Amino acid sequence: MTDFPLTGGCQCGALRYEVASEPLGFAACHCTECQRQSMSAHGLSLYVDAAVFTLIKGTPQIWSRVAALSGKMDCAFCSTCGARVFHRIPGDSVISVKAGGIDNLQELQPVAHIWLHSARAFTALPPDVLRYDEEPEDFTEIFEAWRTRRGGATRQ
Ligand SMILES: [Zn+2]
Ligand SMILES: [Zn+2]
Repeated sequence: MTDFPLTGGCQCGALRYEVASEPLGFAACHCTECQRQSMSAHGLSLYVDAAVFTLIKGTPQIWSRVAALSGKMDCAFCSTCGARVFHRIPGDSVISVKAGGIDNLQELQPVAHIWLHSARAFTALPPDVLRYDEEPEDFTEIFEAWRTRRGGATRQ
């Protein structure tokens, strides 16, 4: 069972946030942008409705980049420690929380791995995940897999 809100924050603690209720989906992204934003092999995107995401401490800095499908993407990070905290396409109702900062992440596992054509050679995938060579055309399949995986696992 997962207790809500989920909590999380940046590396130094200057930014803290809450996710009030069940996320929409969870994916690992192996694109080269995520490799650089995370300085690791892949990024972790926990998709949440913007209405349930609340910053409870600090104000992030925003760096905007051009994204392949969506146009502009705002990337929020801590001005003290530099940790990337979340991404949002302006006007979009979904926030992508960079899930390595979630405190109780053990309870959540990605249901999909995307942009596998740029995955690092040492990447190993669990057997029961959706796999995409690039960005999926839409995230319906990922969100449905998440609901199926999480059925009965939520408590609000
Ligand atoms: Zn920080
Ligand atoms: Zn990515």
